[in-house]
Amino acid sequence: MTDTNSLVDIKVPDIGDFDAVDVIEVLVAVGDVVEADQSLITLESDKASMEIPSPSAGRIESLEVKVGDQVGEGALIARLAPADETKAADGKPAAEEEVSSVPADEEADTEEAAKPAPESPVAPGANAKSESQDGAGAESEDAPDDVDYDLVVLGSGPGGYAAAFRAADLGLRTALVEKHATLGGVCLNVGCIPSKALLHAAKVIEEVESFADHGVRFGEPQIDLDALRSWKDGVVARLTGGLDQMAKRRKVDVIRGVGRLRDAHTLVVEAEEERSVRFAKLVVAVGSRSVEIPGVPHDSERVWDSTAALELRSVPERLLVVGGGIIGLEMATVYAALGSRVSVVELLPTLMTGVDRDLVRPLEKRIRSRYENIWTSTKLLGIEEKGSELVASFEGSDAPGEATFDAVLVAVGRRPNGDRIDAEAAGLQVTERGFLEVDDQQRTNVSHIFAIGDVVGQPMLAHKATHEGHVAAEVAAGLKSGFDARVIPGVAYTDPEVAWVGLTETEAKEKGIEVEKGVFPWAANGRSLALGRDEGSTKLLFDPTTHRVVGGGAVGPNAGDLIAEIGHAIEMGSDAQDLALTVHAHPTLSETVGLAAEVFEGTVTDLYAPKKNRK
Ligand code: FAD
Repeated sequence: MTDTNSLVDIKVPDIGDFDAVDVIEVLVAVGDVVEADQSLITLESDKASMEIPSPSAGRIESLEVKVGDQVGEGALIARLAPADETKAADGKPAAEEEVSSVPADEEADTEEAAKPAPESPVAPGANAKSESQDGAGAESEDAPDDVDYDLVVLGSGPGGYAAAFRAADLGLRTALVEKHATLGGVCLNVGCIPSKALLHAAKVIEEVESFADHGVRFGEPQIDLDALRSWKDGVVARLTGGLDQMAKRRKVDVIRGVGRLRDAHTLVVEAEEERSVRFAKLVVAVGSRSVEIPGVPHDSERVWDSTAALELRSVPERLLVVGGGIIGLEMATVYAALGSRVSVVELLPTLMTGVDRDLVRPLEKRIRSRYENIWTSTKLLGIEEKGSELVASFEGSDAPGEATFDAVLVAVGRRPNGDRIDAEAAGLQVTERGFLEVDDQQRTNVSHIFAIGDVVGQPMLAHKATHEGHVAAEVAAGLKSGFDARVIPGVAYTDPEVAWVGLTETEAKEKGIEVEKGVFPWAANGRSLALGRDEGSTKLLFDPTTHRVVGGGAVGPNAGDLIAEIGHAIEMGSDAQDLALTVHAHPTLSETVGLAAEVFEGTVTDLYAPKKNRK
């Protein structure tokens, strides 16, 4: 029995200028054993959110607040029996007894494995949270006794390897099943990384060329395609090799082969020999594949998907890029720099549909002057291979009826691989388009099977997959995690780069959401001018009432690196003043974020922008 006289009252500390703030999360329950400094509740004011920690270790005897309460300084949060009072009969602190954890390098205890997984609804909050008070363990309500692994991850992309490594770090016996020879999925092998390596080469070529106007001349670039390819492959190999090493060190078993579900606890992995792998829990991380279109001979050597384009088979004299989205335009950037005459055809009226026009315009202006053709509102009717040429036919406002090319890249989107794993054998529901639907803990309709990454939906981006992978692994290990990121940034690594995060103006208009904005043109940014570029801009969107940042974007060289600050501001509930009063280093491109907030505030002095001064 706990002596009630010895209970410690935990109260709301000094919270600044606020009389009352909202309790938005209660992170512990009565009976929980907590460590000193472990967060107990989250409070949110209109400025920020803050977690209130326990002053000492012990057991929560009573909780005096709930989500939705308003509290001020001195309000009672909880009563705590100090750790000394909670010693068990054998003298061990209760905390050691009750918080189960499986050491990373030991197998999970099978009795622990039989414990039911704590159902852990995710409390609302600004960020994905993980709280370990339930303890890590390889438990499943209905896991059979004969499983080989606590967790199997199917697919080793940025979602899958992140899930497997996190699960192993949390003590689960984990296997990673991958059909390709190297780990890393699309992103590392044939997506983000090789494309960025080639885009860097393109940037160097373009910058060197542009310096002729500024007094530094180099000769014509000599392109050694084999050497460039080897360098790009080396970058990829370094990263994928690193994943193999990390899997080994974490004791994650890598099983090579094509995995398909036999039932709700069995994967059949086909390689030279077929093998059954039994799991308590599964994370499906099988990603996506390029969409093919009718009327196009996709089996031709000269008709490429993004993977083929990244192989650098040749630099075609005339290249047609079908699809004016991010992947198509990034590849167009590479091949234009290498010397191809590039044409882009896009069915919709604009390039990079969905992204605000003012952010896309500088890119469009630049590439319209450099590429041979940009045909929007134009349909590719088909492609015919005639000898060594590809004849494409079009229907559209300004496109010719036919045009001839040496190679065609089709980049019209990606399709999820949920339809290729015999999902129904495990009772998984797959949408018509091949997606698996999940809740905010990444659980599918079969509660011990999780899904992450491209296979669960848009945005199909590596960083989304990785965060989802962590959530799935943590939930599988019994932690209270959930994917509740407010925003996910998007970046096109074109020249100039285009980046955006949170609400866009386009979306705000469509949904009737009122926003105000601050825009800072890079023509007034010293660093941008020193880079020889003046077309960029940074835009912030604000809630007109609270002045909180709700979205933003940038266009210009390295714009993708600026978007992190805007994303962070949105996650933290920052307002215009928070950004405007943050001292940014000079001269940097990042200054434009603070300056866009100053434009909104009316305090900017780097521009003549007579506007409301909010004082
Ligand atoms: P994937 O990376 O697709 O990995 C899935 C893995 O599962 C693959 O290794 C596959 O072999 C394996 N697999 C599938 N089925 C089976 C099976 N039955 N058995 C065994 N293994 C299987 N995103 C960004 O965020 N930034 C970028 O700059 C970027 N650039 C890109 C450039 C290109 C050219 C492309 C094509 C994509 C790009 N993406 C980018 C998107 C990014 O690659 C994906 O969003 C990301 O890879 C998705 O990760 P994932 O873990 O869901 O799956």
